[in-house]
Amino acid sequence: MPEEHHQPDCIFCQIVAGTKDARIVYQDDELTAFWDHYPATPVHMLIIPNRHIDSMNKVEQSDAALLGRMLLKARDIAEEMGVRQKGYRLLINTERGGGQSVFHIHLHLFAGDHLLAVHG
Ligand code: 5GP
Ligand code: ZN
Repeated sequence: MPEEHHQPDCIFCQIVAGTKDARIVYQDDELTAFWDHYPATPVHMLIIPNRHIDSMNKVEQSDAALLGRMLLKARDIAEEMGVRQKGYRLLINTERGGGQSVFHIHLHLFAGDHLLAVHG
């Protein structure tokens, strides 16, 4: 990962780099998916780009395929977790007012009980 794409004090960059522990379920040269440390639902994963992007507001047109890959990977993980048919929720909290607390863009995958009450 080139240095400008990795922010050493970002916890999600650390998970991508392997310097912080996480239950990683998928990783390739563009994406990493791992269990949320404080799951709000029985299935709660985070799908992130390996490259540091602060939030949805910093995404550029040239990142469109990357975002598409995040969505499709979330669907694939839902399939692997056996929840694709029943259903799941995908969510990107954006900026403080949108509930974002970690400023490395991430797509939440929620599934399981109590889903209607959970908004991330
Ligand atoms: P946000 O509120 O920014 O949309 O979501 C951040 C998510 O990251 C939260 O659901 C929170 O539980 C999760 N989280 C925070 N710190 C860690 C961590 O160190 N490891 C993992 N796996 N998840 C984390
Ligand atoms: Zn980061």
